[in-house]
Amino acid sequence: MLTLSSIPMSSPDLTDAEIAAVNQVLQTPVLSIGPQITAFEQELASRAGTRHAVGVNSGTSGLHLCVIAAGVGDGDLVLTPSFSFIASANCILYERGVPVFIDVDPATGNINPALVAEAADDLSRGGKAAERWLPRAVRDGGRPVGQLKALLPVHAFGQPADVDPMLSVARSHGLAVIEDACEAIGATYKGRNAGSLGDAAVFAFYPNKQVTTGEGGMIVTNHDAWADIFRSLRNQGRDVFDAWLNHTRLGYNYRMDELSAALGLAQIKRLDELLAKRAQVAQWYDERLADIELVERPFIAATTTRMSWFVYVVRIKPPASRDEVLARLADVGVPSRPYFTPIHLQPFYQRQFGYQRGDLPVTEYLGDVSLALPFSGVMREEQVDYVCAQLRHSLER
Ligand SMILES: *Cc1c(COP(=O)(O)O)cnc(C)c1O
Repeated sequence: MLTLSSIPMSSPDLTDAEIAAVNQVLQTPVLSIGPQITAFEQELASRAGTRHAVGVNSGTSGLHLCVIAAGVGDGDLVLTPSFSFIASANCILYERGVPVFIDVDPATGNINPALVAEAADDLSRGGKAAERWLPRAVRDGGRPVGQLKALLPVHAFGQPADVDPMLSVARSHGLAVIEDACEAIGATYKGRNAGSLGDAAVFAFYPNKQVTTGEGGMIVTNHDAWADIFRSLRNQGRDVFDAWLNHTRLGYNYRMDELSAALGLAQIKRLDELLAKRAQVAQWYDERLADIELVERPFIAATTTRMSWFVYVVRIKPPASRDEVLARLADVGVPSRPYFTPIHLQPFYQRQFGYQRGDLPVTEYLGDVSLALPFSGVMREEQVDYVCAQLRHSLER
């Protein structure tokens, strides 16, 4: 039993069905590459509405394999938001690509499609027009500039990015579209499933996600050839392939084990229930925060036909200070987190690419004011009450 003074930041939503499913696997000798992952993949592909689903051991490894499939190599450019979890940009670096960070829509925090169109035009034109989009270190000749290869939008907080305009940019410039759908399982965009919108997409199953496998991820795609590449690369580059793949590169051990797959399968069968419970908690928050002037609640775009609530992130409006509110909440036992901390301001990115504060004003503003409140599908109404009362109190002082 959780007490009010020990509200966790997040919590998985597990039942006897999940425990039984994992126990059942333990009674067999097959703990990897067995029937569970196949069943989990089929169930997920059918839910996402894609031809293929390929299980991997994390969302990050899934994104890495997508970046490989998109042909990103040395110095190649990928347009992506900085207002995200760091994995969505790190996967570009694994292939020595260059993340070109595009600022976000101030309402949703998702990548701004008008800026994506402008950047793609300028970058394919090259020269002076291209330069203003490039990270300082690349612009100044620190590294060779490759080709613009892909768009990697992130569905932040479980809300789909506005992908339609980006799909037409991708078509006219011959770019791959990789959806980071790690936070958006079950969400829909204009009635279409997140994960089915681009060339490939990745869902993630860390314990704070809507669906968990402990650690794990799933790539979905409609391209037969990409699915083959993913299956080979997750398994050390093994597998029998058509001749065109015989020269393949290095593979990895990115396999998902049977225990995780069994857990995921039991969870995904409960997807609608899991999302409904999270939506209820979000609604409790919405109702209680509606009249607090210094708190801005999450904005849901008209293109979002189904929200998949991953986190509940408010904005603490100036002159109130997000950091002070966070500290005051911590004093009364309420955990909260700045979310997201912009990727381009992470020390490693500043060092390697020369990004600076001022480069992405909307992203930086959101990074300064956004605060994730405790959130999960198992949160009780009185816990939401307590968090909101404490938040209100922290702003009155
Ligand atoms: C969770 C998440 C990932 C992947 O995380 P893993 O911990 O590797 O499973 C990637 N991108 C975003 C935006 C995420 O929230």
